Amino acid sequence: MTQSVLFTTYARYPLNLVKGHGSWVWDDQGNRYLDFMSGLAVTNLGHAPEKVKEKVKAQLDELWHISNLFHIPQQEKAARLLTEVSCADAVFFCNSGAEANEAAIKLARRYHQKVKGADRYEIITFEQSFHGRTLATLTATGQQKVKDGFLPLPEGFKTVPLHDLDALRSAIGPKTAAVMLELVQAEGGVYPVERGFVQELAALCKQEGLLLILDEVQTGMGRTGTWFAHQQYDVEPDIFTTAKGIASGLPAGAMLAKDFLREAFTPGTHASTFGGNPVSAAAVIATIETMREERVPERAAEASAYLMEQLRVALADQPFVRDIRGLGLIIGIECAGPVGEIVTAGQQNKLLFVTAGPNVIRLLPNLLVTREEIDQAVETLTGLIADHAAKDAVKEEMKL
Ligand SMILES: *Cc1c(COP(=O)(O)O)cnc(C)c1O
Repeated sequence: MTQSVLFTTYARYPLNLVKGHGSWVWDDQGNRYLDFMSGLAVTNLGHAPEKVKEKVKAQLDELWHISNLFHIPQQEKAARLLTEVSCADAVFFCNSGAEANEAAIKLARRYHQKVKGADRYEIITFEQSFHGRTLATLTATGQQKVKDGFLPLPEGFKTVPLHDLDALRSAIGPKTAAVMLELVQAEGGVYPVERGFVQELAALCKQEGLLLILDEVQTGMGRTGTWFAHQQYDVEPDIFTTAKGIASGLPAGAMLAKDFLREAFTPGTHASTFGGNPVSAAAVIATIETMREERVPERAAEASAYLMEQLRVALADQPFVRDIRGLGLIIGIECAGPVGEIVTAGQQNKLLFVTAGPNVIRLLPNLLVTREEIDQAVETLTGLIADHAAKDAVKEEMKL
């Protein structure tokens, strides 16, 4: 192959994937792989889900793009469906998770400054969090590696340790506008946030007049076994964001909020050229309709319980494995050492999965994954981990 002219922002795997269907993808040599990464929690209904494909094709025959200067009925319908499956009253569509979080940050600032007339702009976030790669969202992110070389960072963000209410309390000041968190820190190592902490945090936000923003870019759209993860925590955020699984693989993101925040975004205050365009909105509609008709969030919860149990049994006596945790179908297997070689070995054995930090294997199957597919993945993975742990170098380093 000739030298790529793309920026080398990704260390890409040496596979050329050309086709996908359900839980399976094929490379250009005709090899079939079991996909337990779903394009990073995006293809939640599997590859090329029939109903979404049909709706998008039909929309392509009608109208591709018209701009948000006009009413877009597909966008209206997609928004209404999102409000039907969540506590949100208002929706803004964009094209990605980072943009959805940008919209949330802007809405929080504007609400305080224009509606409440208060000089509040600061957003408190948590260590190990991930909120995106734009300047504001990488500043919100609690991981140094995404910030290196991008100084100066925008003002108005503070990061505190997760599960530390005292640190949170002392970080709150007269300028604080909102607290923003993920309910499962997925990129940061698959750490589900404790229920008690989330509830106390929500109460603290109410008491202090702060907005609670939940980043459900990865945890939303059924991924954790409910439409949105916060539905399992018995809290209602003022603002939440979602993206990855929202359009089954087409680019889309959404920022959702309670009714009282509507007045903060008046015409001209925020916009996106492509956001909610007829084609991606059609994909959002078909994704939600499929999820409703096929009980996808419930099935994700069932698949999660089965997968967790199979992993716990299969890996119970494996000293290289330190912890198995997660929520719904975001599952992390924390190991005693780096797991990059296990990912590579997985590809050679036709099983695709990713990492979450150096020592954590992250499994993200689609939400309709079958028991047979789970059994096959667990068997392959157990063998891969055993082979890796049996290497002399690994044994020596880990003192296994
Ligand atoms: C992936 C992700 C983002 C960023 O989404 P993009 O679509 O890549 O901009 C933000 N927050 C969380 C929690 C994510 O998982």
